[in-house]
Amino acid sequence: MSTLRCIDLTKTYGAEAGYALGGSAGGVSFDVEQGELFALLGPSGCGKTTTLRIIGGFVEPTSGRVELGGEDVTRKPPYARPTNTVFQSYALFPHLSVGANVEFGLKMDRVGRKERQTRTREALGIVGMEHLADRRIAELSGGQQQRAALARAMVKRPGVLLLDEPFGALDLRLRRQMQDELVRLKQATGTTFVHVTHDQDEACAIADRIAVMDRGQIVQVDTPVQLYRAPRTAYVAQFLNVGTVLRGKTVRQGGDVSIDTGGVLVHGAVPQWAEPGMRFSAVLPPDQVTIAPGNEPIASSDCESACGTIEHVAFTGSAFAVNLRLVDGTRLVAEVPRQAMSAGQQLNMQPGSEVVASWRRCDVIIVDDVDPELAAGDDAEQAGVIAA
Ligand code: ADP
Ligand code: MG
Repeated sequence: MSTLRCIDLTKTYGAEAGYALGGSAGGVSFDVEQGELFALLGPSGCGKTTTLRIIGGFVEPTSGRVELGGEDVTRKPPYARPTNTVFQSYALFPHLSVGANVEFGLKMDRVGRKERQTRTREALGIVGMEHLADRRIAELSGGQQQRAALARAMVKRPGVLLLDEPFGALDLRLRRQMQDELVRLKQATGTTFVHVTHDQDEACAIADRIAVMDRGQIVQVDTPVQLYRAPRTAYVAQFLNVGTVLRGKTVRQGGDVSIDTGGVLVHGAVPQWAEPGMRFSAVLPPDQVTIAPGNEPIASSDCESACGTIEHVAFTGSAFAVNLRLVDGTRLVAEVPRQAMSAGQQLNMQPGSEVVASWRRCDVIIVDDVDPELAAGDDAEQAGVIAA
């Protein structure tokens, strides 16, 4: 059952400001299921906070509708909705204790003293802060403040919890820890979450489904795995860092339509309807690209290859991300698992080493490349290649 439905939402802040959310072509729509952790992911300014505020009732949409539990709440104030929001700046009362902050909302709701105490203790327990109930907010670390803000939202047992970049101010280690805790919280309480972030790693780590946003629009809604397996556009592939995005145009060779990226000819799964000269991008996931020493392309019917040199290598903990520059200047990333290196693979990873990169045709992801902003700038160059 859908707990939350956003239907064709748009928002403009005055006529000349343009759309903060949605556009003339339409608004933002999505459904969130009961108990789901749904992430809104996109770069700064794409409309994530606006969407969250509309759901929470802090911003009125210019058009469209919000339904919570089957009820139209579009014109209802925040306190009359089964939602609670954790804002980007935690908005805690610095002079009050942790316990008093968490209890505050229950007092406003005129919950009895005994129940207030029980629920406050319970909420602090959920975030592991019972022992800090008497501490003042000003005396807490960033991570502890984050936990207190979560407890304050959880104590009201909202059906839907709205989180706006809740871990943005935390260092990486703490952020990871809070991500795990949030998933545990979700599993333990069955709460529905809408989680706003610009961090694709965070969204993939915690979300059941992700809505990828771009300039006021949702461009794809899918599970993290499906977004990696089948990003719909070059923008999604790029933002999620699915792999090297090689942008190009379709060319016909015999009966075959392939993509000319300006040096590499990619014979991926170009749609049947594609005409020569159409823009597509080929996405090469780094873990599907194999590299070997040498400077001769590998000829094979199900593989493609390109020659280049190593520019630099980044160690990621589990693998080496080898950044290559192909002979035509295209940059490509190949991932070599750490085990492969320790198993004695003979590969000189010094910058300047000549290598052949190869990949299976079936591992290339072909995506639409409809984004005019991404396309701007290299049109002349591309046209030259196609004409050549
Ligand atoms: P995000 O949270 O993804 O960074 P926002 O939802 O905050 O994006 O903003 C979306 C767009 O709306 C931005 O272009 C932003 O400048 C604009 N915007 C947000 N709030 C206001 C406001 N109160 N007045 C005018 N423009 C706003
Ligand atoms: Mg924001």
